[in-house]
Formats: sequence, structure tokens, C-alpha cells
Amino acid sequence: MVWKECLPKRRVFDTMLPCFVYENSTCRGNGWASREGWRAPIITRVCHESRAIAFETGRVLFPEDDPNVPAYIESMWSDSTTDIVAQYWRPGLESVVYWAIDDPDPYLFHYASRYQGAMIAEERLQAALQSTNTSDWTILARLKDCYVCLANPVMIHLTRREMLASQLFGRLGEEYTQLIDPADQQTLKKFHQLARTSSQQLPETMKFFDQLCTPSFQSQMHTWSHDTMSHWIWKEWLKEKQTNFSGIARPDLIWMGPPTPTNGRPFDPLSPHSFTQQGLFVPNLLDASRFSYNGNHPWVREKLAAAPRFYPRIMIRPCIQQCWRPRTPPRRGRPRGHYRAGGR
Ligand SMILES: [Zn+2]
Repeated sequence: MVWKECLPKRRVFDTMLPCFVYENSTCRGNGWASREGWRAPIITRVCHESRAIAFETGRVLFPEDDPNVPAYIESMWSDSTTDIVAQYWRPGLESVVYWAIDDPDPYLFHYASRYQGAMIAEERLQAALQSTNTSDWTILARLKDCYVCLANPVMIHLTRREMLASQLFGRLGEEYTQLIDPADQQTLKKFHQLARTSSQQLPETMKFFDQLCTPSFQSQMHTWSHDTMSHWIWKEWLKEKQTNFSGIARPDLIWMGPPTPTNGRPFDPLSPHSFTQQGLFVPNLLDASRFSYNGNHPWVREKLAAAPRFYPRIMIRPCIQQCWRPRTPPRRGRPRGHYRAGGR
């Protein structure tokens, strides 16, 4: 029982290194946290009994044994009863050599269905919803529980001691990726306090915590889920439009909002142009500020029930790499503590 308490409660394991995605960051903690997250929990190295407890639900996966482990991961610990699988892919990364040879989606979908959910970047979700091409949207529709990382990971610089003492990264400091509900202000305040009182922080970290309490951020978070689902239903609606809403009772009651005439023409509840924002660069995008889906419409209810559940999350990661210090140049000459043939 004691050993069970020592296991990580929930880990997020990366099938892709975020440092390749967020390469502009000066922080080295992203890659570090991912790699640490692939390591087996500490209790696998304590005694026979604790090891057995950890292996009851967890396991180490190797790319040689399991084709679902990306080849760039040497080995990966994961526990399907607690863990979430994460992917950081977003449009624009197609040209990165890393993914030209490996499509990241098979890894994500393999684990997403067996584990406790998946995490994707918000940029991917929004791009899929705003694109006129429906291919990525169709792919995302296969997800069930989906955590959406709202921005770049928020890095907190600290020492390992501070990380353990904070208890914000797991009981034994082994939960290197925290996904926090933006509505959970109490927990976010604890992370803010930790960032204020620990080592030198990145400017973007402090900027992030400062904007948390602003009314614009709060209202954005408040409407995020509803707006996202509005765009989702809009995609479904455009699909039905192609078959002239056949089989749908009262399709004119699907959207709610001001019936404003557009371009001199009367409002038509079955025309996409009535619901889009005029003069917008993105064609055929729902004007979610004016229109909302009718949650009582049977067709809407059916589509909402079938859609993935999207949970907005703020990702917070620790970094103990002391990135603010200049990198130590590699030592020249004979490495200390090693003997070389012919050396004196
Ligand atoms: Zn760092």
C-alpha cells in the first residue's frame, strides 16, 4: 500500500520531443523533462517488493520490441492505468526532417485509445477547425478524451530540492509535465508562487503568470470550450450542407443568433454566408461571437455526444538545468578520470 502511494499519480508521456517544436526557447528543460518522463519510477529501484508493485500496471517499452514506440526513444516507461500520451505536432512542422520520415499520428492514436487520454497542441486543433480541408479534422474526430495544451509549455526554473519540496510535480517529483485546468486558479497560484520564490525565471514564464489574472485571459478561458465546440459543430454542419441537410428535421433551427441580412440579401438559415464573418481572411469560418449552436436541437445533441471531449490545459514543466547560466564549453585535452593508451 505504501509503495502504491509512491507511484506517480499521473504522468504525461511524450511520443515527440517538444524541444524540436519549441526550438526558439532558450530553456533546455523541455527535452530534459520529456526524457525524465520516460524513465521508470524511483520505486522500481528500491527493492523487490516495490519493483513488483510498479510493474503491476506499468511497463518499460522498447522500440525493438514494440513498433508503436518511436525509434528515437530508447526505452519508455508508461502505465496505461494512469498516463496520458502527448504530441506536439502542429501545421507548419511538415518540413522538419524529423517528421518527414515518421508520421507522429500512429504513435498518438495507438496509445490514446489504450491510455487515459491524449494531449495535443491547441494550434493543431484550431488549424483543423479553421481549415477548409477536412482531413485533419476527420483525424482528430477519432479521439475521445483530449487535453489541449493552450500555449507553449510554461517552464519553471528551480533546483531539484525546490522541485521536491513544492510537491507540485508529484510526491517524489516524478511528474514532470503538469496539465492544469485554467479554471483552477488555486493551483496556478501555487505555481506562480513557486516561480517567484525559486531560481531565475525566463521572462516568458513571468509574463505568463502576470497575464493569468487579467480579465481578457479569464474571459478567453471562460468561452474556450464553447467556442471550440461551436467551430466543431460548424464543421459538421458544413458537411451536412453538402447533402442539403437530408434526414435532419428543422435544420433552420441549428444556429442561434441575430438574423442579420448579408450583402443586401435576407438572412438564410441554411446558407453558410449568413453565419460567417465578412471580410475575414479565413473563408467560411463561423462568427462565433454572434452565432452559437442550439443545444436543444436533436442533431446538435447527437453531434456533441459523438465529438471528442476537449479539455483546455496549461502545461507546466520544471527545469533544473540552470539555463540562465552560459553553457560550459566542452573541456579540451585529456578527459579527467580516464586513461588513454600512451598517456602519461
Ligand atoms: Zn530552463
